[in-house]
Amino acid sequence: MSFIESLTLALALTYSVSLLYWSGKKWGAFATGGLITGAIISSLYWPLIAALGIAVIGIAIGRKFQPTVAQGELRANHMRDGVQHLLALSMLLVGVQFTVNSALLKAGITPWLMRPDVGDAFLPIAGGIEIKAIISLGIWDQNHPAAAVMLTVVLLTGLLCKRAFCGWACPLGLAGEYLYKLRKRFIKQELLPPAWIDWPLRMLKYLLLLALLYIVLGMPTMSIPGYLNSNYHKIADLKMALFFITPGLVTLICFGIILGLAAWRRQGFCRYICPYGALLGLLSFLSPLKIRRSTQHCLIESKGMNCDKCSRACPANISVHNQINIRSDECQACMRCISACPKKEALHFSTRNGWKLSARGLTIMLFAIMFLLPLFAYLGGFWHSETPVEARMYLIQHLDRIGH
Ligand code: SF4
Ligand code: SF4
Repeated sequence: MSFIESLTLALALTYSVSLLYWSGKKWGAFATGGLITGAIISSLYWPLIAALGIAVIGIAIGRKFQPTVAQGELRANHMRDGVQHLLALSMLLVGVQFTVNSALLKAGITPWLMRPDVGDAFLPIAGGIEIKAIISLGIWDQNHPAAAVMLTVVLLTGLLCKRAFCGWACPLGLAGEYLYKLRKRFIKQELLPPAWIDWPLRMLKYLLLLALLYIVLGMPTMSIPGYLNSNYHKIADLKMALFFITPGLVTLICFGIILGLAAWRRQGFCRYICPYGALLGLLSFLSPLKIRRSTQHCLIESKGMNCDKCSRACPANISVHNQINIRSDECQACMRCISACPKKEALHFSTRNGWKLSARGLTIMLFAIMFLLPLFAYLGGFWHSETPVEARMYLIQHLDRIGH
């Protein structure tokens, strides 16, 4: 685990403990803090231990100068923005570290900066094949074990808290939001497509998901060990990077379409193209947590007023004010509708039996899923790639010639 990974992990988990403490769950905070500290110290890995120290000091300083941030007493929109930007910054630094590591390998120099294993999160197909190998053959991949861990993390978030990963964590979603805002500076009006075009476009991401599932599920089980030991798999991360660095004409056109979609309508990329979004959308139907509207408190039923502030705030164009439970696969649990609602008790992110999750609670839940699992995977030896540096250095020289 590189220092940036360690620091992000320690910051997120320490912040979760801080939020737990300030939400009144003091014993839960002490127990979680003890567990995390114990796990990190037992790792005997100095970057992780140092990162924990920095995170604790950082949160303590934050508590002095920005108490509302440290205590999580922010409105949902600010909380979400903070989480998204922290994770995007972390991914940016991881990207820089990966680039430096790869450039040194290409130059034939043993890297002094280690490869960040969390970059394997960008290998969802490899992750899917690895999970299939674990389930069907009991084999754990040694080259990119973090790919399976990160895919599991993302799937778990979808199962538990709808598409909160898209709305709160995905750096691509955040980049799309900025592109959309940029477009709005020049072209003010909303450019929403009519429903008869919107629906087929939304199905595009499910077609892409089907294609990816076909690759993973269609691979014969007996050929998986051969794939996991292949040179292609060993440098799948470099192949992926090469694909983005030296795009062909078709790739460039695809990038153009993706950027155009993101700028054209809010969450355009998540809504129409992203296969991860499709997978999370399907899983989100099983999520016990949903946005729920209480007719007892909503101004429409309780006061007979006309109100649609929640629907107008929704970036996914969901008609919140007409529904009781928001089951839509496009709901990203962003909580903008809750923030926009003038009646405090009218909208909740809750389970069917009334257990409510605030923005602070959702942050704790997301951080716990996204960072505890990698921490335990790291401690269990299922995180760090065992591919020898010499092998990667040799293979990167022949990147163009290595295929499936
Ligand atoms: S329904 Fe609410 S939580 Fe879901 S996407 Fe719309 S604004 Fe966000
Ligand atoms: S904004 Fe609140 S009060 Fe208004 S319709 Fe939506 S849930 Fe009801």
